[in-house]
Amino acid sequence: MKIGILGAGPAGIFAALKVRNITMNDIYLFDANPRVGKKFSVTGSGRCNITNLNILPDSYFSFEPANLKSIFDRYSPMNIRKVLDDFGIPTVATDDGWVYPLSYSANNVVQILRDHLICHNVHLVEDTKVTTIDYQKNEFVLTMDNQREKFYCSRLVVASGGKAYPQLRADTSILKDIEKMGIQTIPFRPALVPVELSEKTFLPIVGVRMDAEIQLYKSNQLIRKNTGNIIFTDCGLNGPGIMNLSHLIDPGNEKTYAICVNFLPENARQIIENLYEKNQKFPYHYRSIYLSFLPEKVVDFFFERWELSKNSVCSEIKPGNLQEHLKDLQSIKNEVRSVKGYKFAQASAGGISLSEIDLNTMQSKKISGLFFAGEILDITGPCGGFNLHWAIASGIIAGESISV
Ligand SMILES: Cc1cc2nc3c(=O)[nH]c(=O)nc-3n(C[C@H](O)[C@H](O)[C@H](O)COP(=O)(O)OP(=O)(O)OC[C@H]3O[C@@H](n4cnc5c(N)ncnc54)[C@H](O)[C@@H]3O)c2cc1C
Repeated sequence: MKIGILGAGPAGIFAALKVRNITMNDIYLFDANPRVGKKFSVTGSGRCNITNLNILPDSYFSFEPANLKSIFDRYSPMNIRKVLDDFGIPTVATDDGWVYPLSYSANNVVQILRDHLICHNVHLVEDTKVTTIDYQKNEFVLTMDNQREKFYCSRLVVASGGKAYPQLRADTSILKDIEKMGIQTIPFRPALVPVELSEKTFLPIVGVRMDAEIQLYKSNQLIRKNTGNIIFTDCGLNGPGIMNLSHLIDPGNEKTYAICVNFLPENARQIIENLYEKNQKFPYHYRSIYLSFLPEKVVDFFFERWELSKNSVCSEIKPGNLQEHLKDLQSIKNEVRSVKGYKFAQASAGGISLSEIDLNTMQSKKISGLFFAGEILDITGPCGGFNLHWAIASGIIAGESISV
């Protein structure tokens, strides 16, 4: 059987490698990039955060809710690690559950997988953009930008990714032909991307990196909270803590959103109040209480806001002022100016609606023989290996289902 796979990212690569009786089939893997796995090879800052021990169906966002349980039961983090092991890619997990290849090299992972593709006689059609897909008489007809001959196949996996990182040829133009087949798509928007703020409140703490709770408000209503690492930048916020919320900001209506950074770690209020009480009799600096929790630059920023000398001692601070300070630490709200564009995004939200596919096989419910996998589908995970996990798991399912 002739099988076409459009897109040689993790989804397309694993779809190709998991076709049953792989050598009995004629598999063609197309990619516009000069080599397979281009984006894959820069993931995790080159270290490839490939899955996460804490993956749950609820970890993922899609515009149309879908029941993903069976997929993650079938392809749990443990199962994906086993698959990777079988391909000669052993993995290690950090204390917080982020999983990396033992080599800590995305580039090594891609080279190993490319070798497997070659060993299994998968035809690598690199440096070739598929410009159109037609569906005629139960066959898919692909045209390419650099080849005269058309390509015909009876099974097609579309694993062409989303819009994030166009500098590595992210390209969703093929969706126009998918839509012509009557398949519904959901508009894309940047996800896992830094957020710019209207006010420059945090300018004095640019460069600080810390864990904090981020609250996202829309029209003054709290819509989501998330705790994670953030970095203060000269235009706003970066880091997983904010990136994991960025897809919830509706492009075009950014200014109806606001971000509140809660600088007070969980349980810290009680500890601060105790330290304050305990040190009333001593010349203990009020500032030292905050140095127990926060980077010094942040403590200085708040002391400026509160117009307090660095030398103030606990007994000089009235209990009412202490409460005001604790409130301020939790309530600095800033209007969102914009989310950074696709060039800075690690993923995109939106894509092929999940209602269009059978999640047991990744096959289109409308067009027999047409499969989807990876980020082209309307599903986005947070930072931490969730998106590669999804790309690999959905790719495997598509590959296994092509020739059962
Ligand atoms: C900088 C960066 C770091 C990241 N780090 C991590 C991480 O550590 N962990 C994690 O889980 N996720 C990470 N991600 C997200 C992850 O890389 C993606 O979710 C994943 O690559 C999606 O896989 P995919 O196979 O669906 O699509 P892609 O990897 O995007 O692959 C799709 C391929 O299809 C090709 N293509 C598209 N249209 C055509 C066409 N018409 N003709 C020919 N080829 C076409 C594209 O050029 C591309 O090569 C990161 C993303 C970025 C940008």
